[in-house]
Parts: sequence; C-alpha cells; structure tokens
Amino acid sequence: MRIDTATRLCAVIGNPVVHSLSPAMHNAAFEALGLNYVYVAFHVEDVGACLSGMRALPSFRGMSVTIPHKMAVMPHLDEIEVLAQHVGCVNTVINENGRLLGANTDGLGTLRAFEEAGVSLAGRRILFLGAGGAVRAVAFAMAEQGGAETVTLLARNPAKAAALADDLRAGTPAHIATGDLEADLAAAMAAHDIIVQGTPIGMYPERVGQTCVPPELLQSRHVVFDMVYNPMKTRFLLDAEAKGCVCILGGEMLLQQAVLQFERWTGQAAPVGIMRAALLGALQERQSKNNPVGGKEAS
Ligand code: NAP
Repeated sequence: MRIDTATRLCAVIGNPVVHSLSPAMHNAAFEALGLNYVYVAFHVEDVGACLSGMRALPSFRGMSVTIPHKMAVMPHLDEIEVLAQHVGCVNTVINENGRLLGANTDGLGTLRAFEEAGVSLAGRRILFLGAGGAVRAVAFAMAEQGGAETVTLLARNPAKAAALADDLRAGTPAHIATGDLEADLAAAMAAHDIIVQGTPIGMYPERVGQTCVPPELLQSRHVVFDMVYNPMKTRFLLDAEAKGCVCILGGEMLLQQAVLQFERWTGQAAPVGIMRAALLGALQERQSKNNPVGGKEAS
C-alpha cells in the first residue's frame, strides 16, 4: 500500500468501532483498483468536533457512521439527501472540499442486495418483523423507491410499529399496516411474499439457533431476508432454505451499503466480489477467534 501526500482518507466513526468489518471491505476494494485511498476506524465521542475536523481536511473524503452516531451527525452536515432525511439518520458522509453531504446507504444497499438476488420488489407485499432502526431504513427504501405494494410491520411492541407506519405513510403510496409480532404472525406470513427479519433474534452469541418464525409458517413462495449477519445463516434462513425459499443473507446488506459508499467516495464501480470475499474472510476470522461482531453494528 502506498501512502503519500496525495492519499485520501476514509473512516468509520462509532463507539465502539473495534468490531467494524468496514476497513476490511473498503481497503480490499481500494487495493484491488489501485486507488490511493486508505480506510481506518475512529472511536469517537465528540461528534461535532469530529465533523469539524473532517470539514477542515479536504483529503478526508468519506465517512461511514455507525452506532451511536447516526442521528447525532445530522446537525453538523451542510446537506442531507431526501431518503436519509425521511429515515432520520445518516450512515455516510461525503466531503466535497469542505462541504459535508449526508446519505443513508443501508436501505438502498438492501435494494441492491434484492436486485442481485434477482428479486423485484415492485408490486410485492413485504412483511417486516421488528420495527427498530434497521427496519426503518430498509422499509423507507422499499416503500419509497422499491415500489412495494404493501408494507406490514409486526413488532412485540405494536405502538413502535404504529409510529414507524405513520412516518412511512407520509411519504409513500404503498399500503402500510401494523400488528403484533406474536398474535398476527401466522396470518401475516400467509398474506405476504417477502419476509424481512429485523430483530436480533438468531444473532451470535446468545440468540444463535433461535427464530421468531415457526418453520410451519414458511412456504416455498416466500422470499426471505434476515438482517442478522452473524452467524451468516441464521436458524430462520436455514429453515427457509429447507422449505425451498429464496434466501438473502444479512451479510449482503452489510456488503451492498458499503459498495454504495465506495462508489460515492471514489466515483468508480466497486469491485463487489473482492469486497464480498473480504467481508466473508473478516467474519470467518472473527468466528474462528470466537470474537463476536458488535450486535447493532451496521457498517
Ligand atoms: P434496534 O433498533 O434495537 O431494533 C431491534 C428491533 O427488534 C426492535 O423492534 C426490537 O423491539 C426488536 N426486538 C429485539 N429483541 C426482540 C425479541 N426478543 N423479540 C421480539 N422483538 C425483538 O436494532 P437495529 O439496529 O434495528 O438492528 C436489528 C438487527 O439488524 C440486529 O440484529 C442487527 O445486527 C441487524 N442489522 C444488520 C445490518 C446489516 O447490514 N446486515 C444493519 C443494521 C442492523 P423493541 O423496540 O420492543 O425493543
């Protein structure tokens, strides 16, 4: 790797960031394309000071923002893209010579993961399990830009699903419905085509092997996406695979949100295969060291 006076910097900020998989993906991509960029991880507490520093450093080109700073960065930016405004959080900053632009690639990355899997969202009925931050980002992208016909949100606390539904209704023609994750699950599974699992159920280490969907509710016509990426295949995905469903792994969302960031920062098509291999390598290394990936980490 060449580091010189022309090197451009990209970084993930978060607290903690020690488990971030982003440096592995982005540095592998920079190296593959011979780009004079480097990507590092910064543990940040003072978000305002951090963004002032970025603004003052024109060669600090791009930032990934992870938990807990995705909302806190927003007041410090010069412009925020419409989708990120609707979602209410930013995971990507682009530094245009001191002007800081905020974007959210979590939802659009997920749209790309579906596209790569050959699954069209247009006119489809999409069921979300959970109503937290990641579901919010993906539901907005699917409803506003994916052309979904119906978006249904089931949560253990239906009031949270209802609040998200109100926000979604404001900006999309899709039909938005809500319900209780346990009581309404069977009827909702029968009435929807695409199932998005957005709770931490199934996640390493404590919840491995758990699922919130009894296997008998799965049908081969379902397209199933689990946001959990550690383990790479959750119990839910293994059950769906056994039923013959099309399955999309959480790792693909993590990958594609990074792919979109890379393209925004460099203006070049990302080497997706190289980034996927770097992500899988980093995940396998973590798992072999029995070192958990941060539970809510998105980038
Ligand atoms: P979050 O904001 O905390 O939301 C979690 C959601 O799951 C909430 O609706 C929560 O309900 C619900 N939930 C938690 N435990 C539950 C349980 N035992 N039973 C039923 N519902 C439960 O978290 P998030 O940031 O959205 O992340 C959700 C999952 O997505 C995590 O596993 C995270 O690792 C994963 N994720 C993956 C990516 C990716 O790139 N693949 C990106 C972001 C997140 P309450 O509100 O009632 O607590």
